[in-house]
Amino acid sequence: MKLHEFQAKAIFRKYSIPVPEGSMALTPEKAAEIASGFPGKAVIKAQVHVGGRGKAGGVKLSSGKEEAFATAGTILGMDLKGLIVKKVLVEKAIDIDKEYYVSFAIDRAKHMTVFISSIMGGVDIEDVAKKSPESINKSYIDPFTGLKDFHIRPFLKQAGLDKDACAQASKIIKNLYKIFLETDANLVEINPLVLTKDNKVIAADAKMDIDDNAMYRQQEIYDMVKDELEAQPEHQAKQKGLSYIKMEGNIGCIVNGAGLSMATMDIIKLYGGEPANFLDIGGSSNPEKVKYAMQLLMGDENVKVAFFNIFGGITRCDDVARGLISAISELKVNFPIVVRLTGTNASEAKEILKGSELIFEETMIGAAKKAVGLVAR
Ligand code: GDP
Ligand code: MN
Repeated sequence: MKLHEFQAKAIFRKYSIPVPEGSMALTPEKAAEIASGFPGKAVIKAQVHVGGRGKAGGVKLSSGKEEAFATAGTILGMDLKGLIVKKVLVEKAIDIDKEYYVSFAIDRAKHMTVFISSIMGGVDIEDVAKKSPESINKSYIDPFTGLKDFHIRPFLKQAGLDKDACAQASKIIKNLYKIFLETDANLVEINPLVLTKDNKVIAADAKMDIDDNAMYRQQEIYDMVKDELEAQPEHQAKQKGLSYIKMEGNIGCIVNGAGLSMATMDIIKLYGGEPANFLDIGGSSNPEKVKYAMQLLMGDENVKVAFFNIFGGITRCDDVARGLISAISELKVNFPIVVRLTGTNASEAKEILKGSELIFEETMIGAAKKAVGLVAR
């Protein structure tokens, strides 16, 4: 679960990482009120889960109450890379001298935490990685011994900070590592980490992504994100024992087993289609689950066809077929459903599906081709 900048900064404050003064606003009135508390300029920042808000027009400076009101008015409601801005963060603008990049993430291949840093901050780190990979430092941290000075020193040296600023940056990086561990984060990132004209080191931006599987022991963070989290179809599906991930394509998948779900997406791609989702309904053929899975697909306006792929082991295919028919009869499904059922009692299942509008296919390849063909029409 990604946190908004204002939420991540609230956590930063608790761990003594300096962030600009400011708070979140839902309306231009509130934004103007917050901005009027600062002498000089305010910066107004869209709170949406996209990178590069600055370049896309979601971060703007303003001076005075009226301008803050107008600027917040243009940012609130703005469409930023497909997401509508509902919240802004209003902060006292800082006088930037230099912008750096620091983050902690998990390197799964190395089974370690990686500290990533660069003196080319403020721009998309993916761009920096492409254009000047030599300017990105990575140091790997053994989870048993933790973060040490030697991990940080090369960055501090490159950044050309004086003794005082070095001490500030070092403290920030160590506290950031502490946050990374204690919040079960997959990623904590400061971009830019700013050196101000009066030699203060400040986190001007904050990004955090928390491991969803750890949410049960992160009560405080859960409370922060509760409303947004519970509105996500992925989360709702999880509550019902389904594992769902929305994707960009138009072939909806309903599959039993994670491995078969992955294979189903692969085979759709192989035959030139695009999966709309990953969906593992688990081992059982419970009609309620099937019905809920179908509702998930119906909630995705991109879905043009459903690909139902079940391997019956202990699960009997005739049970699944009956479950499927009863689920469909209760819902008004407005797209064709291609069904591949194989394994225990597959021929009985075929008989059951014969009279229905469901399209039965014997093989996975046949079903994939059929589904791709149906969306291509
Ligand atoms: P992002 O584009 O979504 O990563 O948003 P950031 O919070 O990183 O802001 C983008 C850029 O806006 C930063 O790299 C800064 O150059 C600039 N910026 C953000 N806050 C301030 C501020 O308080 N003062 C000044 N002068 N520039 C700022
Ligand atoms: Mn940033």
